[in-house]
Amino acid sequence: INPRNTTQTCHRCDFVMGTEGTDKLRLADREWTCPKCHTHHVRDHNAAQNILIKGLAKLA
Ligand SMILES: [Zn+2]
Repeated sequence: INPRNTTQTCHRCDFVMGTEGTDKLRLADREWTCPKCHTHHVRDHNAAQNILIKGLAKLA
């Protein structure tokens, strides 16, 4: 699967950091809160969720 934006995308609401006037997450940002749905994310866990969701979508 394409790992593009998996770090920057909220797995809950699909908001992409760096859009709509927000700042992209930096490598130093280990945790962040989605400005749209206010879900608190641990970066690597959120990226893993996105990869899992995309991978399952390909199998469907
Ligand atoms: Zn969100």
